[in-house]
Amino acid sequence: MIKVRKRKILLLSGDGIGPEVISEVRKIIEWFNKKKSLDFQIDEDLVGGCSYDKNDTPITDEVFYKALESEVIMLGAVGGPKWDNVEFAKKPERALLKLRKELKLFANLRPAICFQQLVDASTLKPEVVSGLDIMIVRELTGGIYFGEPRGIKPIENGERKGINTHSYTSSEITRVARVAFELAKKRSNRVTSCEKSNVMEAGLLWREEVQSLRDKEYKEIELSHMLADNCAMQLLKNPKQFDVIVTDNLFGDMLSDQASMLTGSLGLLPSASLGAKNKDGEMRAMYEPIHGSAPDIAGKGIANPIATILSFAMALRYSLDLDKEAGSLEKAVQDVLNDGLRTKDILSNGTKEVSTSQMGDAIISKLQ
Ligand code: NAD
Repeated sequence: MIKVRKRKILLLSGDGIGPEVISEVRKIIEWFNKKKSLDFQIDEDLVGGCSYDKNDTPITDEVFYKALESEVIMLGAVGGPKWDNVEFAKKPERALLKLRKELKLFANLRPAICFQQLVDASTLKPEVVSGLDIMIVRELTGGIYFGEPRGIKPIENGERKGINTHSYTSSEITRVARVAFELAKKRSNRVTSCEKSNVMEAGLLWREEVQSLRDKEYKEIELSHMLADNCAMQLLKNPKQFDVIVTDNLFGDMLSDQASMLTGSLGLLPSASLGAKNKDGEMRAMYEPIHGSAPDIAGKGIANPIATILSFAMALRYSLDLDKEAGSLEKAVQDVLNDGLRTKDILSNGTKEVSTSQMGDAIISKLQ
């Protein structure tokens, strides 16, 4: 077993705007090292389309081993139209799936927070989203994206059949539910678990296992169950009824994207993917903005780096045990928004447009 090296941060910028937004995180890490005498060791490498161009694979074994021995992986984004016709196994996104699967990053945390300064950027009414702060915990390594059998096969009459399998074991459900309950203990002790137990056996098992864990170990948590389609509707109708939502891989993919749009901009939302702790208490984890590589704006210096910077704040909190530093970085972001500085995607009347690197610099100046 490869040992996790404490404080080793691997930067995988990827494609499109990935390098631009990760560059701002690199500045922040260097600032922490210099001004707060922290000892983060930075390494960087290729992943995604840029790795395919150079190495004919979206992630080399060497980079994969670096990821295995890093305490924190900061990922930018991968993909873009340039690689649309690359064979399936070598597509940029395969690198992400490999990292998630092999590093056993089974819990994806996606906060959806509506910044007070940006309430008007949401397509929903201000009173519906103002003060919104929910956390979606999505199971990331099981369910229909990984289940077997899968594939496309010929059947009779010249037809073809596409097959994917949705399956979960009790332990896969319990370990992600535990993450949700632990998070809820630090928030308001409320968890909503979502599945489709009315039509899917795997959904019924999900519901039973989550309830059973709650009854055995988390009696202080108020647990409710909701069908995933109803949750999609409730997220638009009254999103503030939720605190922590826990759900499977497929429903989590959709519900978390939907929740992200409540807040107005993709450029603001971070995520964390956490693995299990080993017996030495070490945990592998990858942090990334929820947006993609935004090829339409890549290279223009206008990408919003806040989602990636807030992803690093999550790394400080969940992997590096630096709660205070995480809080000060989040506050620096708030302060810059209060000053009216905005990248193009969140620009509105009366605010001042800044570039990607000016936004990073402004956040660092607030940390001082
Ligand atoms: P996207 O998130 O890249 O972009 C959607 C829209 O949001 C675009 O108009 C883009 O300009 C804007 N946007 C995104 N991030 C922004 C930021 N930080 N600042 C300002 N504007 C921002 O989604 P897409 O266009 O559907 O996908 C583009 C590529 O990214 C595809 O190849 C897709 O497969 C890939 N992708 C990768 C990831 C990942 O690496 N985790 C996630 C989603 C999509």
